[in-house]
Amino acid sequence: MVLQVNSKPKITRNTENGVLTVTISAESHAAAIGPVVSPAPQAEKPLLVMIDPGHGGKDPGAIGNEGTYEKHVVLHIAKRLQTLLSQQHGIHAVLTRQDDVFIPLYHRVSLAHQHAADLFISIHADGFTNDLVSGASVFALSEHGAGSAMARYLSQSENSVDVLYDDDFKTDDQYLKETLFDLDQHETIHRSLDFGRHLAANISKVHHMHSPHPEQAGFAVLKSPRIPSVLVETSFITNKQEEKLLGEPVFQEKMAHALAEGINSYFINEKKNNLLS
Ligand SMILES: [Zn+2]
Repeated sequence: MVLQVNSKPKITRNTENGVLTVTISAESHAAAIGPVVSPAPQAEKPLLVMIDPGHGGKDPGAIGNEGTYEKHVVLHIAKRLQTLLSQQHGIHAVLTRQDDVFIPLYHRVSLAHQHAADLFISIHADGFTNDLVSGASVFALSEHGAGSAMARYLSQSENSVDVLYDDDFKTDDQYLKETLFDLDQHETIHRSLDFGRHLAANISKVHHMHSPHPEQAGFAVLKSPRIPSVLVETSFITNKQEEKLLGEPVFQEKMAHALAEGINSYFINEKKNNLLS
């Protein structure tokens, strides 16, 4: 079940029969808007994109037959993407790593939350035993992966889910916590797949796709409960032609450009649907 509401809902649970009631009142919406006074002109908060170059440091990622390291080529593409996005008004782009350093997967997710990112994009180059396999792929989190993410999130600390909610949402009801978390993560996966479609549509203009549609898997870096997150395999480093391409600045720039276009078209679409403030 997917619920999309414009105003903040009140969620209550009947302890006797377990029925969950979601109340969306016009009154609370009006209250949230505040008194009718002309607000001072405010600079629009830039949208924050967290770019995650895969691997790094002691973790080289996949290695091509000619000795190209995934961790190096994805950092080049990520930096080019950051430059392209930073040239645009209203978008701020941050990297999870600037250098060849090791960052644990879960820390990458934490960084996105610390920066209150609007999007998370992890950039990789695929490796496979069969060197004939080629093409780009885009992944969002699978529902199964979300289930285990929830278990982990809840097991970290009793109140960990509370950090996601405002004061009036805080509850000791574990069942309600899990339900809210489920609704959130389901909505986030839905938006991640949408983001993935915008990316795939633009990548396919500059490179062939291994799979034309976003796929779903349980990658740890995609387990943000609130931030639409995707992982892009830009191509196969184990394929001779693609290993060569990955090392070429022209291809790195083309791929970064396609990712920037995909991010833009996703944001434009979200604004149209009023999902972004
Ligand atoms: Zn990788």
